[in-house]
Amino acid sequence: MSAQSKPALSGPKSQAAFAAASQRIPGGVNSPVRAWSRLGGQPAFIKRGEGAWITDVDGKRYVDYVLSWGPLLHGHAHPTVIEAVTKAAKHGLSFGAPTEQETALAELLCNALPSMDKVRLVNSGTEATMSALRLARAATGRDLIIKCDGCYHGHADFLLVAAGSGAATFGEPDSAGVPASIANSTIIVPYNDVDAVKAVFEQYPDKIAAIIIEPIAGNMGMVMPEDNYLSSLRSLCDINKSLLIFDEVMTGFRTAWGGYQNICGVRPDLTCLGKVIGGGMPLAAYGGRADIMEQLAPLGPCYQAGTLSGNPIAVAAGLANLSLASDSDFYEIQGKALAGMIGSIEQLAQEHGVPMHISHVGTMWGYFLSDHVVTDFASASATHMDRWTVFASTLIENGINIAPSPYEAAFWSSAHGEREVSVTLDAMEQALLAAAQVSV
Ligand code: PLP
Repeated sequence: MSAQSKPALSGPKSQAAFAAASQRIPGGVNSPVRAWSRLGGQPAFIKRGEGAWITDVDGKRYVDYVLSWGPLLHGHAHPTVIEAVTKAAKHGLSFGAPTEQETALAELLCNALPSMDKVRLVNSGTEATMSALRLARAATGRDLIIKCDGCYHGHADFLLVAAGSGAATFGEPDSAGVPASIANSTIIVPYNDVDAVKAVFEQYPDKIAAIIIEPIAGNMGMVMPEDNYLSSLRSLCDINKSLLIFDEVMTGFRTAWGGYQNICGVRPDLTCLGKVIGGGMPLAAYGGRADIMEQLAPLGPCYQAGTLSGNPIAVAAGLANLSLASDSDFYEIQGKALAGMIGSIEQLAQEHGVPMHISHVGTMWGYFLSDHVVTDFASASATHMDRWTVFASTLIENGINIAPSPYEAAFWSSAHGEREVSVTLDAMEQALLAAAQVSV
């Protein structure tokens, strides 16, 4: 079935809203991943969210597994978070001066992440990774960075870089407008490939400032690090006096309290956080070893700033969101509930003869329609894409909000329960039936 012959994915009011938006907003969306172009449709425009559900302008309801791309650990409009935001707003929206709540959040983050002695709050994941890499370059006096093909670290020029030919290569611009001279400071290696990283260190001794990595990749679908991969990167960075940066913008407080580093036991030099720590408001952070963080202005020579950094409303939302997850068994309980649903999906997929691989850690999950286990971007790209288009479209038609791209992770919230699982499994059945019709 071609995407064109399918019924429109969104209702008439969404379509009118999209037409109006497209007059003034490029592509009708303020971030490209919101478009449903891969599905051959136009996005639903959202009116409100409540718990695990969102409602679009046509009144259609969806069980939400996008959850604002990760932040909403407790679903939409959780009363505790809304109350904290409302209370903070009454005292003023922004001061451009320090507040005690920023220190409370910094304390919480440093206590949750043993690798983090000091932390700087910023507004987005992009700012966090961009700033962490500037700091890594300042601290090491080196220019080159290593990044994995298929990992996304935000849209700074030197991170919008794709692999050239060969296993480990200087990157090529992955977006118009990125100068080749900037892309050239980033070396791209395949995910899960220790030998490729070793080869880069051998080729460029004393030149690599840092490796930046998603400790679980979540931007080529969800791809797990193989055993010893992250610890090998740690050793290689130690041997070569380079810094290891974990981009836990997605995995932070999603996979575990703190982040995936608390599960895998590997301590990075710097960590980037975002999404969940803002609870749906623009807030992110980067932090790590005190000796590195103290190179930041006003203490040191590395400049980084922000008018709205540590914004009081965002900090209030973040503190409230995190406080709701601070029980010692929160991730275990939610992880078990998610695992239960995933077990049922796997069983359905088997019954319908649709090969599917699903990963999950804590409240983060992801799936591939694939015969093989995905370990890197090349194997993610070799999954059943035509089948995926039909599968994801059918889920959305049946009231499941799942990412409109095969290269995205999915999320679970504490607001998801038996009712939502039941609706999801019914929709999964339809989606698998439709997907099974697509030959691969
Ligand atoms: N790093 C990772 C791992 C991400 O998933 C993202 C966004 O999805 C970013 C960085 C960039 O964050 P932001 O969109 O807040 O700039």
